[in-house]
Amino acid sequence: MTKETATPGGAGTLLQLLRDGVPRTRSELAAVTGLARSTVTARVDALLASGLIGPSGEAVSTGGRPPTTFAFNPAARATLAADLGATHARIAVTDLAGAVLAEHRADLDIALGPVPILDWVVEHGLELLARTGRGPADLLGVGIGLPGPVEHSTGRAVNPPIMPGWDGFDVPGHVGDRLPGRVLVDNDVNIMALGEHYTQWRDAGHLLFVKAATGIGCGIIADGQVFRGAQGAAGDMGHIQVTASGDTPCRCGNTGCLEAVASGAAIATRLATEGFDTHTALDVVELARAGSVEALRHIRQAGRDIGEVLAAAVNLFNPSIIVIGGSLALAGDHLLAGVREVIYQRSLPLATQHLRIAQSKTGERAGAIGAGIMVINDGLSAGRVDALVSGGG
Ligand SMILES: [Zn+2]
Repeated sequence: MTKETATPGGAGTLLQLLRDGVPRTRSELAAVTGLARSTVTARVDALLASGLIGPSGEAVSTGGRPPTTFAFNPAARATLAADLGATHARIAVTDLAGAVLAEHRADLDIALGPVPILDWVVEHGLELLARTGRGPADLLGVGIGLPGPVEHSTGRAVNPPIMPGWDGFDVPGHVGDRLPGRVLVDNDVNIMALGEHYTQWRDAGHLLFVKAATGIGCGIIADGQVFRGAQGAAGDMGHIQVTASGDTPCRCGNTGCLEAVASGAAIATRLATEGFDTHTALDVVELARAGSVEALRHIRQAGRDIGEVLAAAVNLFNPSIIVIGGSLALAGDHLLAGVREVIYQRSLPLATQHLRIAQSKTGERAGAIGAGIMVINDGLSAGRVDALVSGGG
């Protein structure tokens, strides 16, 4: 999955300027890019022919014929985005600005295996497309988030613990045989980070998104892009050791991991030993919402434990925003309060001076929106647009 090489000053480069949605004239585009007026005209004509931009009215004239302005056309294509969780799935059709045009949510067990799950995505994706008055030919691509480790470059899950049959399965190959456009796959936390960043914090270059649910994971946005690390394992904060953990055993084989003490599953187990009827992270959230002092105390401590790992991450990475999401974050302010308490106490003042720590605003839609954004960022990159307008894409 190498990126197409962009032509300097090509149509793709021009489109990157226009993706902010602001209408511009040919003269403005020439002034901003330093390109010759004739070159700009040729590039604009190519982009108009592709439908990726359209005329957007007339600019204020300084005399004579008013110059026409052009703007990005988010309706030119669509994406099919799927956020597949352990026990539920959400699919959406988005336009090229990431706006959700139609969506569908269902209970779906990822353990059914890749073929029935992906065929479900294709079947319901085609229905959603039809509902928006579009067909497969309108697809820029398909984005899929999976609840386990993914090798993004090949789109295959790698030893996913809760996904029997998925290990090494060629997801892009299977879906690509049934739908046009490129098929991109990533883990669920990375696409949630992307969705939250794009919809709420687009001006922040460096963001950490923590998903605190049954397990604990972190998506990293660096310079506006998902940061995956050398093997795609970046952000796996659940297996970093925390001091309050004692020697609690973790499913990974180590002891004292964050996930072993602060995850929804860990809190449910602890509350069960205290006599509560809790089996899942959602049971913990319900108990907290009902005002259980014990549940709230455990959630606040989980926030402190997560904060301990994040405090180190803040010193290393210096993010401008940390977003706390996942089902445990739905239990009110207690998780966030614990996180804040420890980060401000433990991180260096310079790193926390302008740091914001906020609850997820996108909520349950973050993953589906992010899967769409993953497709858009790839498909509308300068190199891919150059290939598209020259007929090669
Ligand atoms: Zn572990």
